[in-house]
Amino acid sequence: MTVELPDRAQVIVIGGGIIGASIAYHLTKRDVSDVLLLEQGQLTGGTTWHAAGLVSQLKSTHSLTKLATYSTRLFEELEDETGQATGYRAPGSISVASDPERWEEMRRGISMASTVGVDIREIGMDELNEKVPLLRTDDLIGALFIPKDGQTSPVDTTMALVKGARNGGATVIEGVAVKRLLKKGDTCIGVQTEEGQTVLAESVVMAAGMWTRHLAETIGVNVPLQACEHFYIVTEPLDGAERGMPIVRDPRNYTYFKEETGKIMAGFFEPKAKVWNL
Ligand SMILES: Cc1cc2nc3c(=O)[nH]c(=O)nc-3n(C[C@H](O)[C@H](O)[C@H](O)COP(=O)(O)OP(=O)(O)OC[C@H]3O[C@@H](n4cnc5c(N)ncnc54)[C@H](O)[C@@H]3O)c2cc1C
Repeated sequence: MTVELPDRAQVIVIGGGIIGASIAYHLTKRDVSDVLLLEQGQLTGGTTWHAAGLVSQLKSTHSLTKLATYSTRLFEELEDETGQATGYRAPGSISVASDPERWEEMRRGISMASTVGVDIREIGMDELNEKVPLLRTDDLIGALFIPKDGQTSPVDTTMALVKGARNGGATVIEGVAVKRLLKKGDTCIGVQTEEGQTVLAESVVMAAGMWTRHLAETIGVNVPLQACEHFYIVTEPLDGAERGMPIVRDPRNYTYFKEETGKIMAGFFEPKAKVWNL
């Protein structure tokens, strides 16, 4: 069945993952209400569906850290604003270091994040053991704690952003795939859908995640983006995996751990990532 679309919109957002939903939400907050979000399948059906939902404030740069503190504040308030449960809670996070170089880097991170107002501090091994009894600490030399780091449900948080965007006047449509971008001269002027419909726009935002590269190719733009595999496991219920356990990151060993309904989810980043072919 062909979905009825408007002939034009001020802004078209392609992709109904957390990024597209957030862009639509924030546009409406800036009084751009003529926003049309198109999702090829179901909202959150891309990478967002798989995410662990960790919300971290400590990033590699000052400006990214500042942006991340905004996300934390937003996620704290979004449920009250929209009435849509987000699953957000803030058990805090701990990052551990097992070599001097990593510990030095973390201590620099503590200084940098403190300057933008992040509540962040070193903790000793006794406090670490107390907060995460499941953790082996005898090979660690330092740890930092961010009490207000959080975790959320990526699906529910996206749906809350969509609800907020719709409340602000945005139109969000599922089941419409954009086939190609339309260009006049050097300007992108709209999209054509798989069904052959055309929608013109002042601005087109590509928030199509790992599909963005293919979409950009339709107007000859190279987006250097390559998806790769990312693995995680979820344990059976474990003694010591208590609700409220802080998220644990061990960057040197490319791992992170979080508690979820009495189980531990462990995620692993691969130093040599495996390409995901689309
Ligand atoms: C296992 C795992 C764990 C993760 N954990 C975390 C975490 O703890 N914290 C964190 O911050 N991040 C995490 N991430 C990363 C996070 O999931 C992504 O950064 C985020 O979901 C990307 O959102 P997105 O909206 O850009 O992409 P997507 O969620 O992939 O959304 C893109 C959407 O665009 C749609 N689309 C594509 N092409 C078209 C088209 N032509 N027309 C219409 N629609 C189209 C797709 O259907 C899709 O729904 C994790 C990722 C994985 C895989």
